[in-house]
Amino acid sequence: MHEMSVATGIINVLGDKLSQLAPCKLIALELTVGKLSGIEEHSLRFALESLLVGQGHTDVHLRFRDSPAVFKCTACNWQGQLETFTLLCPDCQATELDIINGQDVILERIEVE
Ligand SMILES: [Zn+2]
Repeated sequence: MHEMSVATGIINVLGDKLSQLAPCKLIALELTVGKLSGIEEHSLRFALESLLVGQGHTDVHLRFRDSPAVFKCTACNWQGQLETFTLLCPDCQATELDIINGQDVILERIEVE
């Protein structure tokens, strides 16, 4: 399951950050989920909750925000979101577009008490 490996990565990052803090209770996590990450939010939530509980973090609020898919044209440097799923630059009609946002799941914020 893709979500479980993503969740494990997030928990590892979280562990690093928490180890730099004084002992505290974890209250909430805020994550940005890219539109192109292929992550199903429900599955990611389930995976994170089970890993958190396994580490003794109970009742942690998980907040998800969508992160848009943003492309960049390699020909004319246009950047933006596309209305359609056609990978075509709206400025110069080139078909060589790089994805510059929307592929990742990012741990944005950690709230502790
Ligand atoms: Zn272009």
